[in-house]
Formats: sequence, C-alpha cells, structure tokens
Amino acid sequence: MSGLPGSPVHGRPPAIVCENLVRIFKVADLEVVALQGLDLVVQAGEIVAIVGASGSGKSTLMGILGGMDLPSAGSVTVAGHDLTRMSRDERTAYRRRVVGVIGQQTERNLLPYLTAVENVEVPMILDGVRHTRARALELLQLVGLDARGDHRPDRLSGGEQQRVAAAIALANGPAVLLADEPTGELDSATAAEVFGVLRLANRELGTTILVVTHDPLVAEHVERTVAIRDGRTSTETLRRRVTSDDGRHEVIAEEYAVLDRAGRVQLPRGHVAQLGLRDRVQLRLQADHVGIWPDRPGADGAASRAGEPAAGDPAAEAAADKAAAHDPEAPA
Ligand code: ADP
Ligand code: MG
Repeated sequence: MSGLPGSPVHGRPPAIVCENLVRIFKVADLEVVALQGLDLVVQAGEIVAIVGASGSGKSTLMGILGGMDLPSAGSVTVAGHDLTRMSRDERTAYRRRVVGVIGQQTERNLLPYLTAVENVEVPMILDGVRHTRARALELLQLVGLDARGDHRPDRLSGGEQQRVAAAIALANGPAVLLADEPTGELDSATAAEVFGVLRLANRELGTTILVVTHDPLVAEHVERTVAIRDGRTSTETLRRRVTSDDGRHEVIAEEYAVLDRAGRVQLPRGHVAQLGLRDRVQLRLQADHVGIWPDRPGADGAASRAGEPAAGDPAAEAAADKAAAHDPEAPA
C-alpha cells in the first residue's frame, strides 16, 4: 500500500466505511448510547488496532461490523455490503463468507468435541464447500499448528486455541477479519504469537483486519491505531518505518485527531486539561494550520496574544504564517 496508512488506495474501494454510526440500547426505561456518531474508514488490506476504555463502544462496533447487530442510525458498509439493508438470508451469507470473527473468550471460539482440523472445517461445511480437509490443514499450517490438527481444544493451550480460532475465522476467505480482544486472556508472549498470526494472515492472504486490543505492545505493532472515546473515534496514531541517514530503521509514531464529516474534532483530554479549555474556544485560521485558544473573559482576544498577528494586518499575518510553517512547536 502506498501513502500513509488509512489513506485511500487508488482503484480499490475501502473495506469498511462507517458514517455517523449510532447504537442506542434500551434497557427498561433507560437508554444507553453505545455509539454516538462514529466515523471510520478502513482501506482494503489494512490492519488496524482499535483501542479505548472499557464501555467506550468497541464491542458494539464489532458486533455491527460482524453482522450480529444493527445500528440505530447511520450507515455502515463492509466489502461493498450495506449492512443496514440486508435480508436475513443475505445476513447469514455475509456472516459466513464476508467476515470472520475471533472472540476474546478462547473456549467459545471452538467446539469442544471436535479436533482442531474439524473445527476449521465447520464453517466450510456450513457453506456447502466440499473437500474441506486439505484447506483446513493448509490454514492450520498458516497458523503454525498443522502438527496439532488431531488435538481437541482441551489439549491445546490458550494461545493455540486462539490460533485455531484464527484459522476458523479465515476458513471461508473473508474480506475482513474482526478480532475483539483476541489476546485478552493470554500472557504477553502468547499474545504476541497470536498477533503474529493475524499479521501473517494480513500479509499472506491480504485480509483486512480490525483488532480490538488493550495490549500496548499489539497496538505498537500496527501502522494504524484508532482510539474510540464515548462511542466515537477520537484520535489515530500512524506509525511509519523510516530509514535514517546512517541506514538505521526506526518507527515514527504521529498522533492525529479525527475530523468528522461535519468538521468536528475531539481534542485529547490532556490538551483540554493542560490549557484549562472549557465551554468554548477561539479558533484562528492560518495558512497551514488552525490555532485553538482558551476563552478567557476579559482578555482582548486570541488575535493579539503573543506570537499572533493582529487581525487585519496582512503583512504581519503573512510573516507569522511563514514562521509557523517552519516552527514545529507552533500551535496546531
Ligand atoms: P467496550 O467493548 O468498549 O467495552 P461495549 O461496546 O461493550 O464497550 O459497550 C458500550 C456501552 O454500551 C456500555 O455502556 C455498555 O454497558 C452498553 N451496552 C453494550 N451492549 C449492551 C446491551 N446489549 N444492552 C445494553 N447496554 C449495552
Ligand atoms: Mg468489549
């Protein structure tokens, strides 16, 4: 893929597009707004980590993308399928062929009375595929478990079970693999192995992967991490591998705020706290950035504060713009 992670790939439609996704759960007389206008675009072939506090809406999003739940409002398209307009049969076919799902609870991903290879055959058999054994063994080989094919789940470790779960999820060649905290019950070394399998599937099979994780190590190994806060995507971290002049490789991480289609940006909590921002802020458009200033009653406006040109003075504004363009510390 060329360009920054998350940027459109020429000629290929995105794998996932969520626009203004809303999901409200009604419990007795209470309404819980689990998703409140979530926007997310994932390009085909990407592997994206989703992070966020407990209760922020991650599993609700995964449930909708997996075709298990419907949004209350908004639109969602996965691999060209509009998930809000599917019949029951289309939804069943979608769950069998278009998405693969790995859940957090290891024992729930596998049928206990079937061997590993039989477990991988199940989704293919349900889909009417014949000659499933060879394909199942191939997938077990991909996840590094071909020698364990005849073991039942109770004879596999937690990490091995999740790798079989990955093979099951990949069995029908889904365009998108969804994994909701697949390593949540594993120690970090085992988690790294399971995550390695996801990366391999992404690389070898071209599967688009969305993985919810609390593991900072996992999040550090993908090029793009999207943070969800209060039912919305809030920030994104993009990592790029660069080669320095002396030939060393390093990874540069840059944090971005998400700009939704209505032009809204959610500021990181730390920024808000540090500058004591509240209720409203002053915005000022510069040639290549927008400045945000606290609203301080009695102050004579952001425009005349140190380092900023007075409004209406084009020469001073141009000079400040020029300086800002070269000053990485300039307010963004
Ligand atoms: P996360 O996966 O990020 O921890 P969830 O998507 O599971 O968050 O939950 C988001 C919010 O929606 C929480 O407040 C949760 O209690 C609520 N919620 C999730 N599923 C249901 C449900 N089936 N019924 C009622 N409330 C729910
Ligand atoms: Mg969850």
